[in-house]
Amino acid sequence: MAKEKAILVDTTKCTACRACQVACKQWNQNSAEKTTNRGSYENPPTLSSKTWMRILFNEYYKDGKMSWLFTKHQCMHCEDAACVEACPPNATTHREFKLWDGSVLKSVATDADKCIGCNYCRVACPFDVPGYNEKKKGIYRCTMCFDRVTGGVKGYDIPACVKACAPGTLSFGDRAELILKAEKRVAQLRSDGYENAHIYGQSELGGLGYMYILTAETSTYSLPGDPSIPIGVTAWKALTNPYGAFAAGGLLLALVVNGVINARNRGLEEEHKLEE
Ligand code: SF4
Ligand code: SF4
Ligand code: SF4
Repeated sequence: MAKEKAILVDTTKCTACRACQVACKQWNQNSAEKTTNRGSYENPPTLSSKTWMRILFNEYYKDGKMSWLFTKHQCMHCEDAACVEACPPNATTHREFKLWDGSVLKSVATDADKCIGCNYCRVACPFDVPGYNEKKKGIYRCTMCFDRVTGGVKGYDIPACVKACAPGTLSFGDRAELILKAEKRVAQLRSDGYENAHIYGQSELGGLGYMYILTAETSTYSLPGDPSIPIGVTAWKALTNPYGAFAAGGLLLALVVNGVINARNRGLEEEHKLEE
């Protein structure tokens, strides 16, 4: 079996410089968005069709002291992807790209020509990722930089965000090797007194394209502890494949999966829409 590429985020090294955020915009030619000061350095407040990644400024309180827990937020390229399951016309699919070194780059992507703008993928995603573009009538998200990495051109053979990260928070490479690297780092952190140090993304949803080294409980990083595909989404896909009856089933999907949406993020999303 071909080796699989992934990205490892060592959050202990992140300085929140947001060079990755800027590099993502630049490489993908996504324009800036107008936002207002919400009393937080975290900006923009949500992902969107024009913002495919952002750095989260999580405030962590322990023994009366606050510290930042910075996290990179973008599509996780889940092996078991709720967005793929929820998409009625199968516009959102898993894609695999063979790289220059024989390894495989996996990416979850949406075919704009097939997207019908139902937004079900947005409702289903446990990470609040897909962004809908009203003008283009399509869904956009991190591509894992397949358009850049597949070329294998020296200097451009890693994702733009990884290339821009000076402190070495982000590593791109073979998944199995990154897991070994993460295990070593977690062992070191634990021996340094970070008893909650752990890896996130190794096995969640069948394995994520992005893995994280965290030093506190997962939820303090604004990540779901046990992400899953809502059961209604799986039932919905079985019911509507082919998707002729999707309008009737859509109500069922919306009712079931609405319950799992993170209320905070939904509030922020609305706020963001108003600001655009
Ligand atoms: S470039 Fe690296 S250090 Fe800077 S915000 Fe991004 S992940 Fe953090
Ligand atoms: S993070 Fe969300 S949009 Fe990305 S693959 Fe997973 S379910 Fe789909
Ligand atoms: S992999 Fe590419 S598209 Fe995804 S966050 Fe990094 S720069 Fe953006």
